[in-house]
Amino acid sequence: MFPIPTVPTAQELVDRALRRAAKATGKGQNRLERARRASVAKIQTVGDTIGTTLKKYVEAVPSLERLPEFQRELVDLLVGVGTLKHDLGAIDWCRDQVVRICRQGARAAGRAKDPTEATRIRKAAYGRVSSLVNQIAPNLLSLAKARGHLVRVPDIDTEMPTIVVAGYPNVGKSQFVRAVSTGKPKVAPYPFTTQGLGVGHLERRHRRYLVVDTPGLLDRPMAERNAVERQAVLALRHLADAIVFLFDPTETCGAPMEIQERLLAEIREAFPTAMIFEIENKGDLEMPARPNKTVEASMKPSSTSRRRVSALTGEGCTEFMETALAAITSRVPEGAPPLRVD
Ligand code: GDP
Repeated sequence: MFPIPTVPTAQELVDRALRRAAKATGKGQNRLERARRASVAKIQTVGDTIGTTLKKYVEAVPSLERLPEFQRELVDLLVGVGTLKHDLGAIDWCRDQVVRICRQGARAAGRAKDPTEATRIRKAAYGRVSSLVNQIAPNLLSLAKARGHLVRVPDIDTEMPTIVVAGYPNVGKSQFVRAVSTGKPKVAPYPFTTQGLGVGHLERRHRRYLVVDTPGLLDRPMAERNAVERQAVLALRHLADAIVFLFDPTETCGAPMEIQERLLAEIREAFPTAMIFEIENKGDLEMPARPNKTVEASMKPSSTSRRRVSALTGEGCTEFMETALAAITSRVPEGAPPLRVD
């Protein structure tokens, strides 16, 4: 998400600046003038190189305060908002000091009494700059590490009404997202999942919606996850205005309905403010014979009260989305009971 340039080590940064400075020369009528101007040019090159490089990092990380809750929680989970702020603060401080020292050094070198003094002033400025940059060596290392994580924070417009698709693996979630999206869903990276998110768009009555498949996230019980993964799942709360929970009543996905129902109950608990819609997929397939239903099982919401669709043939998907999007648009007050589209 954040296109942060690769972060050098303190040593690399100083070396780069000094290499550039070595090439800077000064023209003049006499030796003193040439020496003064060369020193000024070299010191300015060091200040510019380090100043602009450090500024790039500070500006590349978006203001953490203005980051939407969804991304902010992920950044916090990955690198810690506090750590990142601290590192950026230190880097910005160093940039400021380097620019100031180089400005003062250049001014002094321009007034040097003799060539030896011009060189002495230049070396003194180099020394102070090196020691300043070395002071932020740990912050640069820390930012370099954070950069690796930050590129996995998805760049999703959280302002757009978003429907997140949940259900056991192989119930047909990604097929469903494909069926209801305009165009091909794109893959956005997501921390702690290798597959990322499948992000589709759709438009109804001039409003745009996102429909998001979350492979590896909303497809198995929380008890099977570690604390960090749980938080990565819970961050989706900031994204999901509504959840479409897909059942596979044919159980060809490999999970019995009872287990699928249990996952839905968990998701309801984890996403208390999201509207939750339930649908049954694979409507094109024969239902399995289920002879020995217990009394308890038959008291659960009967599958006939859920809309059956087929993500494969597209049957019922558009109609379902019409009803769901109408409900989302006229969003029921927060905390209202979950809706079921019948
Ligand atoms: P996900 O893991 O929940 O995202 O499931 P997929 O979308 O990858 O689908 C898993 C398998 O079920 C694939 O082989 C799909 O072709 C198949 N599938 C998905 N939806 C339907 C459907 O409506 N009918 C049938 N017959 N197969 C489906």
